[in-house]
Amino acid sequence: MPKKTAKKVVSTVEAIYGQDVFNLKVMKECLSKKAFDSLSKTINESGVIDPAIVEEVANAMKDWAISKGATHFCHWFQPLTGSTAEKHDSFISPDGQGGVTMGFSAKELIQGEPDASSFPSGGLRATFEARGYTAWDPTSPAFIKQGEDGATLCIPTIFCGYHGEALDKKTPLLRSSAALAKQMERAGKLFRLKPVTKAYATLGPEQEYFLIDKSFYQQRLDLIQTGRTLFGRKPSRHQQMEDHYFGAIRPRVLAFMEDLDEALWKLGAPAKTRHNEVSPAQFEIAPIYERLNLAIDHNLMCMELMRQIADRHGLVCLLHEKPFAGVNGSGKHNNWSVVGVDGKNWLHPGANPHENAKFLFTLCAVIKAVDEHADLLRASVASPGNDHRLGANEAPPAIISIFLGDQLTDIVEQIEKGEPKSAKAGGMIQIGADVIPDLPRDATDRNRTSPFAFTGNKFEFRALGSNMNPAGANVVLNTIVAEALDQMCAQLEADMKAKKDFNKSLQSVLQAIIKKHKRVIFNGDNYTQEWHQEAERRGLPNKKTTPEALKAYETEENVRLFEKHAVLSKKELLSRYEIYMHNYKSVISYEAECARTIAATQILPAAFQYQMSLADAVKSFDAAGVSNKTAKASLVEVSALIDDLAAGVKAIDAAVEAHDSLKMKKAMLDARAAADALEGIVPADLWPLPTYAEMLFLY
Ligand code: ADP
Ligand code: MG
Repeated sequence: MPKKTAKKVVSTVEAIYGQDVFNLKVMKECLSKKAFDSLSKTINESGVIDPAIVEEVANAMKDWAISKGATHFCHWFQPLTGSTAEKHDSFISPDGQGGVTMGFSAKELIQGEPDASSFPSGGLRATFEARGYTAWDPTSPAFIKQGEDGATLCIPTIFCGYHGEALDKKTPLLRSSAALAKQMERAGKLFRLKPVTKAYATLGPEQEYFLIDKSFYQQRLDLIQTGRTLFGRKPSRHQQMEDHYFGAIRPRVLAFMEDLDEALWKLGAPAKTRHNEVSPAQFEIAPIYERLNLAIDHNLMCMELMRQIADRHGLVCLLHEKPFAGVNGSGKHNNWSVVGVDGKNWLHPGANPHENAKFLFTLCAVIKAVDEHADLLRASVASPGNDHRLGANEAPPAIISIFLGDQLTDIVEQIEKGEPKSAKAGGMIQIGADVIPDLPRDATDRNRTSPFAFTGNKFEFRALGSNMNPAGANVVLNTIVAEALDQMCAQLEADMKAKKDFNKSLQSVLQAIIKKHKRVIFNGDNYTQEWHQEAERRGLPNKKTTPEALKAYETEENVRLFEKHAVLSKKELLSRYEIYMHNYKSVISYEAECARTIAATQILPAAFQYQMSLADAVKSFDAAGVSNKTAKASLVEVSALIDDLAAGVKAIDAAVEAHDSLKMKKAMLDARAAADALEGIVPADLWPLPTYAEMLFLY
């Protein structure tokens, strides 16, 4: 490989960035001014495309895609399975002379009709209405997926049923963004701002993952089938040295990261940070934040690319939340904020009383939202994989609380105590008059144990699982903040009508919120037992498992909330409950079946072999008349563990037979305890599975 000079690298990055995206720059070049202006307005404001320009856009998109080597197009969507889906159609159309022409119609761009019957609908779609519809989401640009020998034009779309029922994760996301924007607009009016943009949320998802050598992966049925190890003894050294985090990146991993960055940049996804994580073999990638919808699409592309690129490097990328028991699991940190109609980040504290007031207003909206709807936030991150993190002694806990840091907590407390009318000198903050002190950013980011932390100019929801589509959590965030804003704006509007002073009214609204919801603020160590007890005293919910957490999608109160903001109908919400519960049960049961297969066909036979050789040895030693206490003791020990493991297998079978997830989980843990103990005594050359030490340290 020729050495790259710094100058060359810069020009290469600049040249390739976004090269596979039908972005504004490309549109400007290949569309008429009228079509371009209309489409950019659609992208930035309405989201609704003018039918008059679709034909022109489709044509331009097709020509551009063909120039990039595309032979096919697909509608790229996010079904409720959690991954993305696509159905490819080629551009060809027979010309009647035995040849073809390449075509792409307006209709093909804006609507597709994939057979939806094999996607989960949770009872939303009757089988006789198997058809589903995909519809272009112009706020996320079309892009080219480069394959080994060809390319495909991918059009981000929503996916719904015949009557418009949302069968995907993008539809409610867009609806929730609209709900949030609507309330932010009201707030903008109250703060007397000149609108320069539509309000929108921003997202920067930090993505954790593991990389292991493919040869180990191929020898582990559990990883192949379930994405996590169902057996495996913790090695003597794992993460206790804390030397992996931010350590030097190994060349092989760096090569993977370089390829990943390049692939993302070509797709216009702003990959920014890459580093080692806490556990050996664990890493993180983070982008520069973008508009919510786009950031989610880019995160989904990122996860897909990670799997593909790892494969090219002889590695496997594990995105499961807990691939290895006993070492750190993987999450996704959801850095979220909201930009108002003035084009500014309202979670940025700002430097003058007016900016401060907007900030405190938004901060309190989030505090209120999180306290009132902690159940929904918890439900939005519930999955069988994530249960290993949230429900266990690993951060963040299942208790949703907010970290503000000492300084901001102090400010919030001053507002709580402050008498809006009597401006007490010193200490008490008067909204709209006082300037709040500077909040140094690093001071706000110390507490890594909090599930929901204010980090300088955004909130970071840290309970998402690494494997999740972040849409679900953001649908909830947008909706609950919209609801809080709605109530706050209603009060302020009523006060304005009554000719009250805005700042005083705002002060009393915020004061009331802090009084009522400060119980959700917690700056201490979220991992401790004391916090669990304290949280219980404060009445904060602590739902440790997915089935408990998902119940939030069923309550009448939450049905009303989602209906009120036109995010999900009752039927749509309940369908999610059905699908996620079904998913949970399926995962537990295929994990159980996989565990019993490995135990019965790999681990037990190896243990028998050792047991047999010990029995033979004992017999020989006895015959020779020599003392063999150790061999006898080992035989007793291995025999007992074999019996335990065999009992575990039986218990798994019985639980599977009874379709009892709880019993399956317990039986799997029992079987695992016996198997992991056997791993500690069966000779290494007999052990049939790659060990944790091999997988975590040899890559
Ligand atoms: P930290 O070190 O506090 O975790 P970084 O500044 O590295 O934070 O940011 C982490 C992620 O948060 C990045 O993806 C970043 O782009 C994102 N982020 C920063 N500001 C915002 C914002 N206003 N809205 C959403 N995400 C943001
Ligand atoms: Mg972070």
